Amino acid sequence: MKSFSYMRARDVTEATRAAQRPGSKVIAGGTNLLDLAKLSIERPSALIDVNRIPGLKEIRRLPDGGVRIGALVTNADLAAHPLIREHYPLLSRAILAGASGQIRNMATTGGNLLQRTRCVQFYDTSDRCNKRAPGSGCGALDGANRMNAIVGGSASCIAVHPSDMAVAMRILDAVVETTDAHGAHRRIPIDDFYVLPDAAPQHETVLTPGEMITGVSLPAPPQGMQSYRKVRDRASYAFALVSVGAIAAVEEGHFTRVRFAFGGIAPKPWRIEAAEAALRGKPRNAQAISTACDIALAGAAGHGDNDFKIALAHRTLIAVLGA
Ligand SMILES: Cc1cc2nc3c(=O)[nH]c(=O)nc-3n(C[C@H](O)[C@H](O)[C@H](O)COP(=O)(O)OP(=O)(O)OC[C@H]3O[C@@H](n4cnc5c(N)ncnc54)[C@H](O)[C@@H]3O)c2cc1C
Ligand code: SF4
Repeated sequence: MKSFSYMRARDVTEATRAAQRPGSKVIAGGTNLLDLAKLSIERPSALIDVNRIPGLKEIRRLPDGGVRIGALVTNADLAAHPLIREHYPLLSRAILAGASGQIRNMATTGGNLLQRTRCVQFYDTSDRCNKRAPGSGCGALDGANRMNAIVGGSASCIAVHPSDMAVAMRILDAVVETTDAHGAHRRIPIDDFYVLPDAAPQHETVLTPGEMITGVSLPAPPQGMQSYRKVRDRASYAFALVSVGAIAAVEEGHFTRVRFAFGGIAPKPWRIEAAEAALRGKPRNAQAISTACDIALAGAAGHGDNDFKIALAHRTLIAVLGA
């Protein structure tokens, strides 16, 4: 492991200025960054600890009925908060489906959104990986790819984004709030926050060097039943093969409102609004749900080991939205 300097930032200005320097990385809970550093996948020369910055651990109600979540709110505190449990149970369930109790006590909201992929070859420094070593090739395309993407990938990378929380936040139309090293603030809709790999899979978000997540805001929750289902190899402590989050309202056996998104199948939470529109007014049955799933997965292709994800995504969506 490469040696690094350590700095405890007193405020966002100090953190972003320090984090802007080449080789610097913000550290929050450290549950992903330190694992990657120990494996020399991340090789920071300076760690900027943001945990003591005041004001980033709050969850508060917004005047429009929404909620603002500070970047340093832990996964455990977020999932357990009464506002989240009552109004955004989807988010609570998605978080509790991830990691373990100990990790959720350390993991933060900002860090969860920025965690790196769990692609096997990304972790194996002896293998090819365009994300870890740009230009080296992709060992997953012709190698083990059971956990990899069926949509949204490219000829350079088929990694999936591993966050459960991000899937819920995508359905809830979350907005990521940031501050950069020049003090400029941005509010980035979560769908615009992540970028697909194309030819440069090392770029995963639109964040600029040093730019820090300060919080996430959620609009007032839409009406409808909220649910999150995660299919995985073990009942706990495993990443999703396929997950589905949904908010649906049904009247007289027909969908009136519906939102859904997948995790575990794409480089970012996968929500296609045209697929949701196709379900509105349709009867709540497997055929209508499967047709909507076809729209959401248009162009989906397996790469061998992960071919099963196409059928699994259909079955999981039907299980979540079906009667
Ligand atoms: C064994 C194990 C199982 C897991 N299972 C799951 C699972 O099933 N589902 C799931 O969703 N997650 C899972 N996780 C991932 C875990 O949720 C993440 O590691 C955690 O959320 C990351 O948060 P952190 O605060 O520890 O981030 P850190 O490790 O501190 O940072 C992660 C990245 O985010 C950056 N960063 C952190 N905060 C900010 C900020 N405010 N602004 C800008 N950059 C920032 C860091 O520079 C770093 O690049 C698992 C982790 C482990 C170790
Ligand atoms: S899928 Fe992406 S992360 Fe995995 S080996 Fe290929 S380039 Fe690397």
